[in-house]
This record gives sequence, C-alpha cells and structure tokens, in this order.
Amino acid sequence: MTPRFPATAPNPPDLIAFEQAREAVLERLRPLPPRRMPLNEALGCVLAEDVAAAEDLPPFDNSAMDGFALRSADVREAGDTSPVPLRVAGEVFAGSAKLPTVAQGTAARIMTGGPLPPGADAVVPVEQTATDGDTVQVRMAVAERGFVRAAGEDVRAGTVVLERGRALDPASIGMLASVGRHEVPVHPRPRVAVVSTGDELVDPGDPLGPGQIRDSNSWLLAAQAEAAGAEAFRCGRLHDDPEALRRGFALAAADGDFVLTSGGVSVGERDYTKQVLAELGDVRAWRVAMQPGMPQAFGIAAGTPLFGLPGNPVSCFVVFEMLVRPALRRLAGFPDDRLDRPRVVARLGEPVRSPKGRVSFLRVVLEVGDEGLTALLTGPQGSGVLSSCVAADGLAVVPAATTELAVRAEVEVVLLREDLAWVR
Ligand code: AMP
Ligand code: MG
Repeated sequence: MTPRFPATAPNPPDLIAFEQAREAVLERLRPLPPRRMPLNEALGCVLAEDVAAAEDLPPFDNSAMDGFALRSADVREAGDTSPVPLRVAGEVFAGSAKLPTVAQGTAARIMTGGPLPPGADAVVPVEQTATDGDTVQVRMAVAERGFVRAAGEDVRAGTVVLERGRALDPASIGMLASVGRHEVPVHPRPRVAVVSTGDELVDPGDPLGPGQIRDSNSWLLAAQAEAAGAEAFRCGRLHDDPEALRRGFALAAADGDFVLTSGGVSVGERDYTKQVLAELGDVRAWRVAMQPGMPQAFGIAAGTPLFGLPGNPVSCFVVFEMLVRPALRRLAGFPDDRLDRPRVVARLGEPVRSPKGRVSFLRVVLEVGDEGLTALLTGPQGSGVLSSCVAADGLAVVPAATTELAVRAEVEVVLLREDLAWVR
C-alpha cells in the first residue's frame, strides 16, 4: 500500500522554535582559548582562572590619617583639657623606607599611607594635636591600632580576589593592579567580521542612485557586536553574485572568530547566500519561529562560526540581540547564566497582537509609575522601521502560543539599555 501523508502536515523541517534555535547555536560554540592579557586591555574580558592575591593588601601596617604615630599607652590620659606632650622624633611619609623608632614619650609625624614606624602602635589625627617646636601636644586618647590600616586587612595573600567567569569591570581592574597583577588570564574578545549582501546597497556618504538604499546593517551589527564586548570590523559589501559571496565569506571567515552576514537568506530570486554558505561548510539555513527575523542561517563556514541574518534592519537588530549576542558572549567566556540580557516584568500600556506559533519581540519604551512598569510600543513595528529600535528601552516578549494580549496584561521585557538595570 502506498503510504499516505498525514492529514495535518507537520511543520516544515526547517522551522524551529526560538528556544531550540538558541540551544542549537550555543551548543556548537565554546569559549575562545584563554590568553594572558595586559591589564590595560582587559576591561570587559572574562577571567579564565581564579586570581589569588600574591601579596597582602595593604602590604604593611600604615596610617589612615595625617597625624602622629605614637604609643597608645603614652596618651591614655590625654583629653581636650589635659593634653599630653610628646617629643617629635622624626617624620614618616607615604613611601618612606627609613623609619624613625618611636620610643616611650615620643611621636613621629606621619602622613596618610606612611608605614607605621617601629615602636608606635597607633596614630592620632593632626586635628587632635598642636605642635610647638619639637613638642607635640596630644589632645586625644587613642586605642591600640587606632587609625592604623593593618597589613592584609583588605586582602590576605593567597585569597582568591576574583573568580573565573567574572567579567572584568573597573573595580576588578583596580583590584588586580593592587595585588600586583599586570597580566591576567582571560578569554579574548571575539573578533567579529561583518559583511552585508545586496546589489542595492551603498555606503553612507556615497551618492544614492535609483533603487539604491544605504547599507545600514553592517554598521548596525558591527555596533551591536562592539556594544556586546566584541571587536567588530566591517569586512565587505557583497553583490548578489555567487562568486562574490564565495570570496567574501571565505575572507571574512579567515579574518574573524565569528562572521555576521545579512541579507539573502530568504527565498528571493537572488538570495544566493544560503546556497553559497552550504558549499562553504556545515551551515544550516532555517526559519526560526520568531517575529521579526524568521529566515536565518547558522553553522561553521570554513572553520569559523557564521550567523546569517535577514536583510531587514529591524530583523537584524532583534535577531542579534536575542540570538547572536548570547553566542558572542559564549565565545567571550561568559557563564551560562550571564549570556542573556536581564528581563523585567511590565504591564502593557496598549493591547498587542502577535502571529500564532511565533514568539514576538516588540520594541517598547518603559515608563515607571506607581503601579510598576508600563511597556508602550515604540510605534509601527514593521521590520523595515528602524526608528522603532532607536526609541526602544526593551523588547517585550509575546510567547509563541499567545496571539493577543489585552491592555494591562503582564509581559516580560528584555532590557536593551544597561542604564535601565535599576528598574529590576
Ligand atoms: P533580503 O533579506 O536580502 O531579501 O533583504 C530584505 C530587505 O532588507 C530588503 O528590503 C533589502 O533591501 C533590505 N536590506 C538588505 N540588506 C540591507 C542592509 N545591509 N542595510 C539595509 N537594508 C538592507
Ligand atoms: Mg538581498
């Protein structure tokens, strides 16, 4: 008997749920091999190993104030009306290597950061003293160790100060310098080669001929990649010609750790990208059940991971944020729970619709009110309307199974701006 087709056709084999696409991309990528990076280039990179302090921080007991180093027992009775005179036996500056010895009945003038001289066990701030020639009148009693910063009180030698997987921020860079590291083992920033495809494209600054449009995607994507912590470079505007694409993709794959291309991945007449990518390696063209940004391609081309994005700028923007950014962060060594942007819950300020079976990412502005956050659409949501992205604080996520949401309904919003993290 001839087999019969099922009454309801299954999904076409190239259609894949958003979550599955995300998993399929991430599982093929590994963090770039670690290397030792000079401290001045390491901001934003992810530590590949725990870093332990080689030295105590601070390295020696030192003064927390400008004042006098003395023996606390000598000034036990000191007060405003009962100053205690001590003989000034010397001076200690920050950086002094030769230190006076503080004997009973004496004190040493000391500056903030100056090493506590032998014999002294405390410091009295200069404001609580008066000097007269070689004598200092101390008007304050001080506990043993008072106004002294102890060796190792910030960090003890041997303690782990920064853990593997940590992205280096300014405070971590300061800490690394404090504990004597001038190089750190990090995953390097991925180098992202960005190409665009299309006969209609001209660069900004060039005259616009009939039927031509500006190549915005390669600029947009390079900027998004840089904002994600990668090193991006534009690497060709390719014509819709199989030979040009072959050469362009091969060059990009040779130059970058990751290739981003836009355009030509849908079903148009001159959409050669898919075909050429399939020749170049194990690249799969698929349709991801998302809106915008359904047609995409991903795989390893000439040994380098490659992501093919749709041509519409808004689709590029959204697919980058939701799928490419986590991929680049995986290469950069971020741990699994730090791949995605943070989300908040907001209530919709207006009703929205969404196609059945596709997760929608709507560009929204967020307003903070007494009842929490309200998400409002940034205007028309067409995939050619780049202004909808310019105004966006976030992407409101409408799940695949949901086709409409009423005003005031709760939605998750992916935060696009780091300065919005406070709304969490
Ligand atoms: P495609 O995916 O190549 O069919 O392109 C879909 C739409 O996106 C078309 O309107 C293209 O003109 C437009 N497009 C493609 N590439 C770019 C680009 N680099 N910058 C701006 N728009 C583009
Ligand atoms: Mg095209």
